[in-house]
Amino acid sequence: MSTCPYCGWPDHDVVETVSRHGTEDGLTVWTRCACGSLQVRAVTAGSVTVTARGRPRATDSVPGRHSSPAPKV
Ligand SMILES: [Zn+2]
Repeated sequence: MSTCPYCGWPDHDVVETVSRHGTEDGLTVWTRCACGSLQVRAVTAGSVTVTARGRPRATDSVPGRHSSPAPKV
C-alpha cells in the first residue's frame, strides 16, 4: 500500500475525486489528497496505480525572503 509522500495519507483513501476519464484499459482518475496534491490514478480491473502526483497546495512556499529584508540605501 502506498501513501502520499507529502502528508502520508494512504492512497487508497481518496479524499476528493476531481475527474475521471474512461480509457481503453479502464479508467484514469484524478484525485486530490488531503494535502492538496493532485494524483493521477490508472484504474484497471482490480488494481489502482498512482501514475503521477502533483505537489501539495502551496501554503508557505512563497518564493523570496521572509527573514532578511534587503537593506535600503
Ligand atoms: Zn498528501
